[in-house]
Amino acid sequence: MGSKLESRKRSTEALKETSKKGLKESELNPKTLEFEFFGNDGVKFVMVSMSLVVMLLESVCNGENKCVGFSGSFSYLVDWFSAGILYLNVIGVYIGYVSWLVVLYFICPGETVKGTTLRNGDVLTYPTNGLLSAILTILVVIADVYLNGIGKMVWVADNFKHFVVTTLFASVLLSLYVYFMSFRKSSKTLLLSTSGNSGIFWYDFFMGRELNPRLFNLDIKYFCELRPGLIGWILVNLAFVAKQYQNFGEVSVSMLLVTASQIVYVLDSLVFEKALLTTMDITTEGFGFMLAMGDLCWVPSVYTLQARYLSYNNVQLSTFFSIFVGILSVVGYLVFRFSNLQKNNFRNSNNAGNEKFLETKAGSKLLISGWWGLARHINYTGDWLLGLSQCLATGFGNPLTYFFSMYFLILLLHRNYRDEIKCHNKYGKDWDRYCSIVKYRFIPYIY
Ligand code: NDP
Repeated sequence: MGSKLESRKRSTEALKETSKKGLKESELNPKTLEFEFFGNDGVKFVMVSMSLVVMLLESVCNGENKCVGFSGSFSYLVDWFSAGILYLNVIGVYIGYVSWLVVLYFICPGETVKGTTLRNGDVLTYPTNGLLSAILTILVVIADVYLNGIGKMVWVADNFKHFVVTTLFASVLLSLYVYFMSFRKSSKTLLLSTSGNSGIFWYDFFMGRELNPRLFNLDIKYFCELRPGLIGWILVNLAFVAKQYQNFGEVSVSMLLVTASQIVYVLDSLVFEKALLTTMDITTEGFGFMLAMGDLCWVPSVYTLQARYLSYNNVQLSTFFSIFVGILSVVGYLVFRFSNLQKNNFRNSNNAGNEKFLETKAGSKLLISGWWGLARHINYTGDWLLGLSQCLATGFGNPLTYFFSMYFLILLLHRNYRDEIKCHNKYGKDWDRYCSIVKYRFIPYIY
């Protein structure tokens, strides 16, 4: 294991060196030889499962069954699928929405920031105007509700299943587009992802072949990561708030707890949009079905399940329990935010806060004090607690609304596993030393 990791680390370093010297394609873009997700069959399974899960979650929680029992059947799914394709007005609204965000990407003011240095020595630039784009979009929706009432929002809630199918199709089409475009002829060698260049269609289609696909200066991966899906998450939640109001004549505390905490979470990620540029998604992953589907379809379809449930079920929480959920939400958010801030400030200000850290041969320093002295991924713990509080806000009437917590736990465990491998490859023995100082992954003294 040790020698395998060492050799991988050496080849990554060699790659960085050689790429700067303008070497041939095979040296700049090595073939992917190590497979994740159990390889080609594994990714096919994940793609089918992800697609089925978003559709099934809609089937078990919609206006017809009020999220109680399963009112669907296979034929229902097929009908729904074809209805989705024919639902041109939903498709039109979705195209209009994404186009609006593309326009805002180009015209909204915001600092232009540099990404990390790529293997070929290039540094790409990105606009950080996501927050302004979100605020403008929400203001347009609020203005429309003020002027015309909640009709359009209720329409979105009523047509939710068609939006699910539309975003699924959009993800497939976009993934196909970026996959085939990654073979285009270019004056400069295109930079491919080291994990999506196996030469096996389904595997590369899923993992993403090109690292930073761009269309007329629109960075497709960066755009998709935080805009259509995350802003869509807020809008769909607001649609279900409107639906609850239409159904019950009030907006419950439970609904307020869920939507307020999710809106804060989304706006927070847009306030810290710059931090996205150093995440694994931007620096390492190619853009393929995994990210396209996750960003465009999964987030607005699955993450809005709690609000959807509440729009058809007027859950009334006790005051005590509401306060408990509110406190858990705030605690989760603060752990998530302050731990991420501590790391960002440490890295970006070259340790202006005088934190305790570990020197490494790879060059980057590893924090071992404050939040990062407690556990190696304490930021994931805070994030998960915040998500749990949103599930708890739906009460205990239906286990379905806890789907998010279960899924998010698996996502974070898997992400932690991948990140630890990445860090082990990068830091080698220094990472072992770091793990012996910061012993726990998520919860101090427990795990
Ligand atoms: P992290 O922000 O935890 O970044 C991990 C990287 O940080 C490592 O690869 C390493 O990179 C560096 N690092 C690790 N330990 C230290 C240390 N002690 N000191 C300094 N740097 C260190 O991971 P993510 O990018 O996965 O997550 C960012 C946030 O996004 C998290 O809060 C997560 O919960 C959230 N998230 C939410 C998702 C959702 O669906 N809601 C999905 C995914 C993430 P380096 O090579 O620079 O050393």
